[in-house]
Amino acid sequence: MSTAILALNAGSSSLKVALCCGQTGATLLTAKITGIGRAPRFSAKGKDGAPLPPGPLTTLATDTTHEDTLGLLMGWIDTQLGHRTLAAVGHRVVHGGAHHTKPTLITPPVLAELRALIPLAPLHQPHNLAAIDTLAKHHPDLPQVACFDTSFHRSQPRLQQIFALPRALTERGILRYGFHGLSYDYIASALPAHLGARADGRVIVAHLGNGASLCAMKNRQSVATTMGFTALDGLVMGRRCGTLDPGVLLYLMQHDGMDAAQIETLLYRQSGLLGVSDLSNNMRDLQAANTPEAQEAIGLFATRAASQIASLLPAIGGLDALVFTAGIGENSAPIRALICDQLHWLGVTLDAQANAANSPRIHAADSPIDVLVLPTDEESVIIAATRALTAAKLD
Ligand code: ADP
Repeated sequence: MSTAILALNAGSSSLKVALCCGQTGATLLTAKITGIGRAPRFSAKGKDGAPLPPGPLTTLATDTTHEDTLGLLMGWIDTQLGHRTLAAVGHRVVHGGAHHTKPTLITPPVLAELRALIPLAPLHQPHNLAAIDTLAKHHPDLPQVACFDTSFHRSQPRLQQIFALPRALTERGILRYGFHGLSYDYIASALPAHLGARADGRVIVAHLGNGASLCAMKNRQSVATTMGFTALDGLVMGRRCGTLDPGVLLYLMQHDGMDAAQIETLLYRQSGLLGVSDLSNNMRDLQAANTPEAQEAIGLFATRAASQIASLLPAIGGLDALVFTAGIGENSAPIRALICDQLHWLGVTLDAQANAANSPRIHAADSPIDVLVLPTDEESVIIAATRALTAAKLD
């Protein structure tokens, strides 16, 4: 019997899937629905990269719920399975807490544990878990696997994982968890092909998308990262503020009477590129806009990225390679140049032409530090983990 495995990345306004052969892991198709709740848009590609017809997904309405959208997507996937049976689904789950150091089969106790983590990732975790619930309702016998964005960082030394807070809070799990781990895991696996022996050296990966973070690696393991207890810390993001003096929050509570819900909205939805530019959370829009506010948002994004790259250097003892990935990292030559210019003192030197072309290697011939642009592939990490955990069901 031929089988297939589905990787599902359920976000706040998007669903991304990859369908792969259960036996070999080869990709059969990728598909995504973006703009759920606003202006839903479906697109899909077959294994040859050619677009696939949307079938009933052409008629997605603005008011179609997440659950119905996933139902329609699963119906469309059924039509693409051909002679194959869907054998398992692997999910991206943003928060796995302190104990999930690797992917796990989802059981009712695991699900209860993951629900308890919703307050730590209020923007992402509810959507990840809702997708698991929907699939369990419609396909109760289908094995489901959770792959966590936090797991990759559990290799970090304790001093990178704790806050300077009273011990009792640390023991309650108020720790620096770190995120984007599936992306970093993929990049770590891709490094040897590009860096040879240097792949096991001192590498910083900059995952710059709507969410953005840095990971400092040695031996392709996470040593330090910029996101902390939640996905708010660290770099400036599309709508999130990144590192912020906690005194600002006290001030807003004490002087403006803001409550927790208002502060959550401020930090997760109204800040970052959107807040500074007063225009958009989208880097492409900001680059096209010529307002001083948009320029300031871009400047702050790059300056914070450069200074936080530098702040990670002691953890790995220097730098052999800097890798850019995700939407901005893979596509925006001007942003990469702005960041790298501020790291020139360290030796980072770009080849302007290679950078403009988004080439995999964008450093100048005499740069002591390699600078790479590598596309990330979180779904392939999910597929590999799901195949490994459900191997008995795949033949
Ligand atoms: P998500 O975190 O939602 O997966 P992505 O990794 O897709 O996000 O990154 C989205 C960001 O990448 C947006 O800010 C978008 O404007 C930016 N981006 C994509 N392509 C370009 C480009 N050519 N130039 C500048 N920014 C880009």
